[in-house]
Amino acid sequence: MAESEEIQRHLREKTGWYILKAPTNLKSEIWQKFHMVFQKKENDESEIPVNYYCACIKCNKVYQFKDSSGKNFGTKNQQEHIKHCAVVLPKSQLKIQQCLKRKIQPSPQE
Ligand SMILES: [Zn+2]
Repeated sequence: MAESEEIQRHLREKTGWYILKAPTNLKSEIWQKFHMVFQKKENDESEIPVNYYCACIKCNKVYQFKDSSGKNFGTKNQQEHIKHCAVVLPKSQLKIQQCLKRKIQPSPQE
């Protein structure tokens, strides 16, 4: 699994391994919608920035915005994502909703 997917999974499942923090030194409007990924250390509560990943604060979609040498990828992918961003419900929540629906509206065959 790619590192970005791994981070995304942890963010969406709220495992507490990774957290998002608003960047303090980046002024572009896109950084109000995408926050920086930090890894939470278990033993000493410290938070280590994960170079160079950011995630959509609404749906936790993870993007790499620099390569490992620090070369900037730009924010084109993030700009594009904002236009199509849809909050994805975790599968467990979706199931609960489907169950409720079934109980409220039983089919005539049952
Ligand atoms: Zn999003």
